[in-house]
Amino acid sequence: MARTYAVETFGCQMNVHDSERLGGLLQQAGYAPAGSAEDADLLVVNTCSVRERAAEKLFARLDRFRRRAPEERPLVAVTGCVAQQEGARIVDRAPIVDVVIGTQALAMLPQAIEEAERTGRPQVDTNPYDNVSFPLGVALRGDPVKAFVTAIEGCNDFCAFCVVPYTRGRERMRPLSEILAEVSAAADEGHREVHLLGQIVNHYRAPDADCDFAGLLERVQNVEGIDRIRFASPHPRHVTRRMIEAIRDLPKVCKHLHLPVQSGSTRVLARMRRRHTRERYLELIDEIRAQVSGVSLSTDMIVGFPGETAADFEQTLGLTEAVRYHGMFSFKYSERPNTLARARMPDDVPEPEKARRLTVLQALQQRIQQELHDAMIERTVTVLADARSRRRAGEYAGRTSGNTVVNFPGDSTCIGRLLDVRVERAGPNSLWGTLSPADEPPPAGGGRVD
Ligand code: SF4
Repeated sequence: MARTYAVETFGCQMNVHDSERLGGLLQQAGYAPAGSAEDADLLVVNTCSVRERAAEKLFARLDRFRRRAPEERPLVAVTGCVAQQEGARIVDRAPIVDVVIGTQALAMLPQAIEEAERTGRPQVDTNPYDNVSFPLGVALRGDPVKAFVTAIEGCNDFCAFCVVPYTRGRERMRPLSEILAEVSAAADEGHREVHLLGQIVNHYRAPDADCDFAGLLERVQNVEGIDRIRFASPHPRHVTRRMIEAIRDLPKVCKHLHLPVQSGSTRVLARMRRRHTRERYLELIDEIRAQVSGVSLSTDMIVGFPGETAADFEQTLGLTEAVRYHGMFSFKYSERPNTLARARMPDDVPEPEKARRLTVLQALQQRIQQELHDAMIERTVTVLADARSRRRAGEYAGRTSGNTVVNFPGDSTCIGRLLDVRVERAGPNSLWGTLSPADEPPPAGGGRVD
């Protein structure tokens, strides 16, 4: 009988996609998916270090296996950003770990497992391989509708608060031919929406063709079978006129832009080494709104960065009011290993004040979202249905082009289809409505299975 594996994933879309690729590699190596992590013969913990105390969370997670008898323990592999950052220290602290694989060595996982079993010794590989990548088409995509496709790995920007350049390495562009082959394969597998991924995805320049990010969007637009294109995350300073026009003109490109600003204060942005100012950012938002009618915008925001004064924070609130984002990921600043902020800037905003600022910002953002969503009541929106509700039987959900979640009564035949929904109710985080008559499933007994 085949040995079984489970992958536990923490963190961003990049990590989710890495886990899909690790799953594919393990199946090629003869492993089958386990029913649960507790029963697996091999447990892979794919870690993220963007959030606070990531290493502590990893060790707490591994602790559940420590008391098991050795013959009842799974083989344990730790991959991803914490693996890259901590390396052999993970094995020193948690001897139940058999394999540690950094972010640029992920494709070495099967060989490292084999070596650990053969020698009985833990294997640690955090080498920044340039030429070791996943075989094309290896990803076992967990989502029936969305397909993540990597365009760029790593980042050269070294924002003062961010660990990514240290954990994921320097920026590496993927050949255009590979990206297009993967998008086509995803379409053939039935995926309708492609998410192009990169730490600064709009910095894309093809190494094998004369093609920038706008050109990439044009090429993906031409792939048959794909209905929608999304991308994450662009950087404000790399938004070009060509890119804005591509979003405006290409019908498959969703009219949603996640444009991380991080602070509303130019002074704080300079300390963060973001290389954009409040003023330039707001001009850019005006330009995008003038070109792409109805575009929705979202962002990332950090409060309590070292040296952030009450006046700086007011600027963040003012910018939030001015832009009226459809969505925001907001965090309290906390130190990350190796970063410039940690090395050079005392973490001087007291914790209760950071918490207060976050509460104020989130309350403002919730009010804005509620207002934007209220304005959608009685309108009909097109969604790509992508999930069954976890809370209510018979309820399904999809996203508008602008990335708003809309819930509606339906059945499993809705998944993967573009449907028109009339909005009846709005909350700050999602909408509720009913399918337009043409898209309603037939009555029970009509041959559809929920
Ligand atoms: S652009 Fe800045 S925040 Fe984004 S991944 Fe690079 S260093 Fe981190």
